Amino acid sequence: MTTVGFIGLGAMGRPMAANLAAEHEVYVHNRTASVATEHAAAHGTTAVDLAGLAPVEVVITCLPTTAEVLEVADELVDHLADGTRWVDCTSGDPAASVALADRLAEDGITYLDAPVSGGTDGARQGTLTMMVGGPAEVIEELDHVLDRLAERIVHVGDVGAGHAVKAVNNTLLAANLWAVGEGLVTLARSGVDVGRALQVVNHSSGRSFASEVLVPQRVLTREFPATFGLGLLAKDTRLGRDLVSASGARAPVLRLVTELFQVAADELGDDVDHTAALRLIERWADTELS
Ligand code: NDP
Repeated sequence: MTTVGFIGLGAMGRPMAANLAAEHEVYVHNRTASVATEHAAAHGTTAVDLAGLAPVEVVITCLPTTAEVLEVADELVDHLADGTRWVDCTSGDPAASVALADRLAEDGITYLDAPVSGGTDGARQGTLTMMVGGPAEVIEELDHVLDRLAERIVHVGDVGAGHAVKAVNNTLLAANLWAVGEGLVTLARSGVDVGRALQVVNHSSGRSFASEVLVPQRVLTREFPATFGLGLLAKDTRLGRDLVSASGARAPVLRLVTELFQVAADELGDDVDHTAALRLIERWADTELS
């Protein structure tokens, strides 16, 4: 049994910390403290302030952006023991995480960037895919903790590589989602039944996770369940664009998709589900997908 501190009990963090508590001693911390207290009552974790995380061997963060991780690090670092491992499951900024890893190393703390994919269902079921940047031996050492969260753990490179892969993955998600929306609105306006069109696309080469799962389950049902905020996906696309710039690659589609999701978040708000971005395409075409 390992003593784990979990910071950030949002849509992802709540079920992730609950899964860890089935096997490990888990201390939880959240900005709104009542969320941590409720988690403790429901899952046998212990709600603490940041100073209360002093005894943990492993810190896990699952916060909206790297800005919140840095904020927490400023206050937490003095409380942690030499040898503590820090696993950052936030979809964060690769360059800022490299700098944070260097800073934490001065206090004997090893930082891994370990963002996850699989949504709130994957978080509940412990079936996430985790992409990890950092030293291989530390990832191996933490396997008994990480395997409570993820069924697939891929070491993608040095610190920063996990966040880089996540940024590109989610920019691809955004590109696919937006493209399916445009394609289906075009077909609807051409008199084609959208459900039948999807039956074809989803058995043809134009299919994607967006066409197979997100659009049928969230858009055509008009449910748009807010499990992954549009603001968070817009943030991921900005990280993708920044990575494109830093890499020197020419990637005009990835840059454009960043702009589109920023407009969507500005128009529709950060807190709606990411699939609600398609409402903007519908609005522009005066056509509802159903
Ligand atoms: P949420 O917005 O649902 O939750 C964020 C949590 O962080 C909230 O509980 C919030 O507290 C807490 N928090 C914010 N700032 C602080 C702080 N300074 N100190 C302590 N706690 C803080 O986000 P998600 O759980 O959806 O996402 C978390 C990360 O995972 C993001 O980087 C996201 O991009 C990524 N992700 C999300 C997925 C999803 O499907 N939702 C899928 C894969 C990755 P409060 O209760 O006060 O708001």
